[in-house]
Amino acid sequence: MNTTYRAIEVSKPGEFSEVRKPFLDPGLNQVRIRVEACGVCHSDSATVEGLFPIDWPRVPGHELVGRIDALGSNVKGWAVGQRVGVGFLGGSCGYCEFCRNGDLVNCRNQEYTGIHSDGGYAEVMIAKASGLVSIPDDLSSAGAALLLCAGITTFNALRNAPAKAGDLVAVLGIGGLGHLAVQYARRMGFEVVAIARGSNTAELAKKLGAHHYIDSAATDPAAALQALGGARVILVTASGGKTITETFKGLRPGGVSIDLGVGPEPIEVTSMDLIFGERKVAGSLTGNPATADTTLRFSALTGVSAMIETVPLEEAAAAYARMMAGKARFRMVLVTKNGTGDSAASK
Ligand SMILES: [Zn+2]
Ligand SMILES: [Zn+2]
Repeated sequence: MNTTYRAIEVSKPGEFSEVRKPFLDPGLNQVRIRVEACGVCHSDSATVEGLFPIDWPRVPGHELVGRIDALGSNVKGWAVGQRVGVGFLGGSCGYCEFCRNGDLVNCRNQEYTGIHSDGGYAEVMIAKASGLVSIPDDLSSAGAALLLCAGITTFNALRNAPAKAGDLVAVLGIGGLGHLAVQYARRMGFEVVAIARGSNTAELAKKLGAHHYIDSAATDPAAALQALGGARVILVTASGGKTITETFKGLRPGGVSIDLGVGPEPIEVTSMDLIFGERKVAGSLTGNPATADTTLRFSALTGVSAMIETVPLEEAAAAYARMMAGKARFRMVLVTKNGTGDSAASK
């Protein structure tokens, strides 16, 4: 009888190791999850490279799906055996000013999964009940995992954007986030433009639902957007302030460039371009758990599907390296034996 489970932890920047950890009981307002799948996200570098202050060792991973196997005290509305997900935001506190005002995303006491607490690169994880997402039956655990991060991030930004059906919406960057954003934008009824470097992505972008494709290596993307009438929204899924700068003039008056890609580069826009046309630059951070539920339901209903490569949990370091090298098509997802019934993590 196992009393430990397998986890991949980072003991110091850049160093992964496979360890066995003892089962812990979930505490107040927490649940214990048998993890079935966990996406490998670019934001995991915050943990792996130590970009945030990290209390080492730390198990990374913030887009995981599994089944609840134990409930802590005071947990209501969730059941043992239920399939759930956890995203980047580890769960709101319920009592801070922002929570009391209904803004759970900006909760002052929110922990980031895999950064402040151990995440999903493991067979078992303890999670706060207030951060849980329910997983529809018709989505596989591996397929749903990245919808908890890349999915909700793009879905929530589009859903809150000032665009209506028929408006021109551009998605900049066709990768882990962008390949989902194009699908969502198409299904929400927008005229969709995909922007990426090179002509190789054109066919895929069209297949995902884009009406137009702009090769930003061959043409000025801002001029190309203006030739289409100007974008109401540009969803920037690539990191780098320069990508925002070079597309900003492609916005129609009143349009907004929404940044989803974190990077150190500053965003440069001239006050002329900002003021004449009343354009905006904005950021968007994932979404609240109810929006995550909606993201998953909408994805199942409309057939949005994530393109993923699955690998066993033990190969986390190689999967992370492949993702960081930009070679993943489009997301590496770690899977454990929990999803197959052949559980190595049985207590
Ligand atoms: Zn992520
Ligand atoms: Zn709060």
